[in-house]
Amino acid sequence: MRYVDLRSDTVTLPTEEMRQAMYEAVVGDDVYEDDPTVIKLEKLAAEMMGKEAALFVASGTMGNQIAIMSHTKLGDEIIAGANCHIVQHEVGAAARLSGVSYALVDNPDNRIYREDVLKKIRVEDIHYPETGLLCLENALSDGTVVPLEDMKELYETAHEYKIPVHLDGARIFNAAIYLKVKAKEIAKYADSVMFCISKGLCSPVGSLLCGSEEFIRKARKMRKILGGGMRQAGFLAACGIISLEKMIDRLKEDHDNAKYLASKLNEIEGFSVDLDKVQINMVFCNVEKENFDFEDFARKLFEKGIKTNPGYEGVIRFVTNKDVSREDIDYTIKCIKEIL
Ligand SMILES: *Cc1c(COP(=O)(O)O)cnc(C)c1O
Repeated sequence: MRYVDLRSDTVTLPTEEMRQAMYEAVVGDDVYEDDPTVIKLEKLAAEMMGKEAALFVASGTMGNQIAIMSHTKLGDEIIAGANCHIVQHEVGAAARLSGVSYALVDNPDNRIYREDVLKKIRVEDIHYPETGLLCLENALSDGTVVPLEDMKELYETAHEYKIPVHLDGARIFNAAIYLKVKAKEIAKYADSVMFCISKGLCSPVGSLLCGSEEFIRKARKMRKILGGGMRQAGFLAACGIISLEKMIDRLKEDHDNAKYLASKLNEIEGFSVDLDKVQINMVFCNVEKENFDFEDFARKLFEKGIKTNPGYEGVIRFVTNKDVSREDIDYTIKCIKEIL
């Protein structure tokens, strides 16, 4: 049975072209740094982010954590948004792997502003840890995009205090499309950036961490510590190259489909989506209905061939992706109406 899968963009399957590229990939041993396909992907990634070098890693979480390990020293504090992926969805790894603590910025709009950073930067005091890193995210996990002016201001503020900036750009290309700029225009406001190829860009596995040559040399060692030194990784990198060369422009379709889905959900009694916040491929739908059973709703959709997450605190997240068509969205809306 074919499912309409709206749980995430990580569920996208590799394209036929990717399967062929995997079959034909020229590979080597990447721990010896002689896998030509990995080298090609890393070069391409670095170029697209406007950085000197890049490192192919197994996941976005690994990329973010290697960045934190490489930028900080034991006992530092890192500044991050309270709802960001690094804090909420990486199993508290920064405390465990880097031995750092968190200075969290908790704004209702999930944004970080200059004044927040200034408040969180530690001055020299025998009681205080040192501020080791500012972590930014763009696009944000709530599906909105941080404007370039904000990025610039945050980057400059951190640098005034000699604090490096890491950008979790898991969906940086979605953000770039929304902002109508090249991804490197966002990445230039960070010392290091991580982005995912295994989400909307359809690769089966992997993320890229980009930064200066010196930073990536350090990061390569940290990846080895985590057991992330992969050998014939070129089979995966071959897909990544296709992601970067051919899959970025089509993300616009996902964005358009998300807006379409949002407007259709808004027509349903008790369902509402803030359309201004539908900026990439994510739709957060508020459900205000008496005794609405989220688990049961997700189960009934599943029986009709639609996969969704059950929702959280009255909100259901739908994510559009390459394998979800306009017709699939019409079908989903029809099923939702039937279930209700
Ligand atoms: C998906 C994602 C990551 C990385 O996730 P992995 O599942 O580890 O690849 C990091 N940050 C954000 C904002 C994400 O959406």
